[in-house]
Amino acid sequence: MTKILLGASQVVTCAGPARLRRGEEMADLDIIPHGAVAIADDGLISAVGPAEQVQQDFADAEVTEVRGVLFPGFVDCHTHAVFGAARLADHERRARGISYMEIAAAGGGILSSVNDVRERSVEDLTALLRKRLAWLVANGTTTVEVKSGYGLEKTAELRQLEAIEAVAGDPAPAVIPTFLGAHEVPPEYRASPDEYLEIVIDEMLPAVAQRGLARFCDVFCEPGVFTPTQSRRVLEAAQSHGLQPKLHADELEGSGGAELAVELGAASADHLAAISDEGMNVLAHSETAAVLLPGTMMYLGGRGQAPARKLIDAGAGVALATDFNPGSSPGTSLPFMATLGVSQLGMLPAETIVAITVNGAAAVGEATTRGQIADGFRADLTLLAVEDWRELPYWYGANFVSEVWVGGVPCHSSRRSVDSLG
Ligand SMILES: [Zn+2]
Repeated sequence: MTKILLGASQVVTCAGPARLRRGEEMADLDIIPHGAVAIADDGLISAVGPAEQVQQDFADAEVTEVRGVLFPGFVDCHTHAVFGAARLADHERRARGISYMEIAAAGGGILSSVNDVRERSVEDLTALLRKRLAWLVANGTTTVEVKSGYGLEKTAELRQLEAIEAVAGDPAPAVIPTFLGAHEVPPEYRASPDEYLEIVIDEMLPAVAQRGLARFCDVFCEPGVFTPTQSRRVLEAAQSHGLQPKLHADELEGSGGAELAVELGAASADHLAAISDEGMNVLAHSETAAVLLPGTMMYLGGRGQAPARKLIDAGAGVALATDFNPGSSPGTSLPFMATLGVSQLGMLPAETIVAITVNGAAAVGEATTRGQIADGFRADLTLLAVEDWRELPYWYGANFVSEVWVGGVPCHSSRRSVDSLG
């Protein structure tokens, strides 16, 4: 039986082309005041429009009353959500002014997460991931990309991907797995990173592809980690196995990462805080999403944010993601990323909404199935207990998500109501 959601003060549809929105397109939200959404039995949206119209067209439908503003479910297109313990000691060390190099030397940093994950079973990693995905849903996220990359050896990388596979059948959120074996050079290969890459290419990738454990392959392309030449080798091998490329690029130095991502037809180039003018030009004329992670730069403190305004003005399509990870961004809120998008990146409020819906979906190859409230799209919906859509990036530090549906199924509900607002 068709179900209709009735009573929203606004329905922010983001309806339009089912692809990355670029440049000026990012400011177009297509809002229906006092709108309603009809959901068919198959979990897809069958109509959206003014409430009277939808009610008339679906007179027999089961009605669910909602209060607030309905958005397309948020898509978090860049996370490292499978990890072991939080890195609380690193957090305090950083507050004391201790450098990343010293933190790493003291046993902290990414390698502490690697040692931790190597010790854990699939069951353990799955339970931790499940708990963390619940935080994401509670913040309105209905689809999340999750990377491996804390194993850095075949069995541990596979265990991370197996944990992602284990939660794939859960009601929410939908997970999209990415193999990131080339996240860092493991300590045992410090002297010979190419030898490690041989293992990534010859042993890990075939196993990941054969078992269908990942859809994307990502590489950390940065001076001191992997060069553009090394990154290309991994990503071309991944493509030959049917995995689509993504790239951690130009976070600390503009070293050709964005250009490589575009050349390989990557779904996204991520970070980009130090992207070069040439990289920006190439990216702005491509269908590769510029995935920006403002929470990371904020959390680490004192580092420049990515040039979002320049990217959008040049014609690029920007997505915002949490980069959820235990070291540089232990955060799960896309609405907060939208706040940072406005306050730190110079984005318009409307652009931040497109960046966490349509463009997030495009960055994970799902722009034709989700990211907008339109006929035929998955009924992934997030209700905020606010009256005006602009409140999403406006308030921060509070969570106004009151209901979440994934494929038309209610997946999260909080007691917050629009009446609780002052
Ligand atoms: Zn990352």
